[in-house]
Amino acid sequence: MNDIYINKKDLKSFCDKLKERYTVYGVRQKEEGFYVFDEIDEFSDPLKEYKPTILPPKKYLFPQQETLLRFDTQPHPDVKPVIESKKQVLFGVRPCDIHGISLLDKIFTTDHEDKNYTQKRADTIIIGIDCLEPCYEHAYCAIVGCLDVDDGYDIMMTDIGDSLYTSVKTEMGEEIVTNFAEYTVAGEEERQRFRELRSEREGKFEKMINTDISNLPLLFQNADNDPVWDELNDKCLGCGRCNIVCPTCYCFDVYDCMELSMTSGERCREWDACTLKDFAVVSSGENFRSTRGHRLRHRFNRKFNYLMTKHNTSFCVGCGRCSKTCPVNIDLVETVNAVIKNNKNHETE
Ligand code: SF4
Ligand code: SF4
Repeated sequence: MNDIYINKKDLKSFCDKLKERYTVYGVRQKEEGFYVFDEIDEFSDPLKEYKPTILPPKKYLFPQQETLLRFDTQPHPDVKPVIESKKQVLFGVRPCDIHGISLLDKIFTTDHEDKNYTQKRADTIIIGIDCLEPCYEHAYCAIVGCLDVDDGYDIMMTDIGDSLYTSVKTEMGEEIVTNFAEYTVAGEEERQRFRELRSEREGKFEKMINTDISNLPLLFQNADNDPVWDELNDKCLGCGRCNIVCPTCYCFDVYDCMELSMTSGERCREWDACTLKDFAVVSSGENFRSTRGHRLRHRFNRKFNYLMTKHNTSFCVGCGRCSKTCPVNIDLVETVNAVIKNNKNHETE
């Protein structure tokens, strides 16, 4: 389908028609300066001044708590898998979060398919919204290659003034546009405006990390004894908030809940966090990462070394949520730059 544009005045009716068929989640302001993804009751303009939501939209694909199976022990053992999914639209997802979802797609399909995730993903339509300005001081999406997105969405909209320039990526995207939107095929004027806005934004996004991102795996491999981990050990509270808000963290804990009768129950999973004290405790009681500094070192290695090496892409999408949410202001960019600086100092000694 050719690129089209949708007048902003027609966005509400597009959203209302989607709601007749799907559960639609969009961005709303929870309180001054804090935004959340939530089910849209009243349409609110997703293009208004934007700050990343407290939790990323991954919560609709990989919920904070989820039942995986139900079981009975009597009259004979019986286990039934549970996959709870519904047709849903994520409206107004920013490029960094689309990248985050694409990384989760890799994680939940590589080596072993996680059907609870893949069913929800198959039932989800993603309507993306381009970023033309940095959303806040913590975002550094451009340097990790997450300002632009080529895949992982159904339609992508760009604010070109009174209308939204709209690229349709998938058959599902074409279907919802054709059935529910008032649109016009983009002409040269709209295409020109789109190109201008996209090129104007280039200089607006600072490159805040002091090296090429491809150098990071090696830098972190050499940073096991970096003094930054001791400094962070003293500062970090081990609260786990940086994990919980991260669009690419996917660790979870699995536990069984028995009914009072003790004859049936549920197996559930819920998000876990590698910065929490008990995360690496094993059954004999040893803790492989007993200090907060070791746990943060592990977290940074997950983003910039282990998973980056395995999948050949950064596992941080530069959304800045971890830096914004940290109660003691541990900043991801400052930490990465400290590792880079210490590594250079080490080389010149
Ligand atoms: S590590 Fe921080 S900046 Fe990177 S994706 Fe996770 S929350 Fe966003
Ligand atoms: S949010 Fe900050 S204090 Fe809490 S675990 Fe993460 S780095 Fe430590």
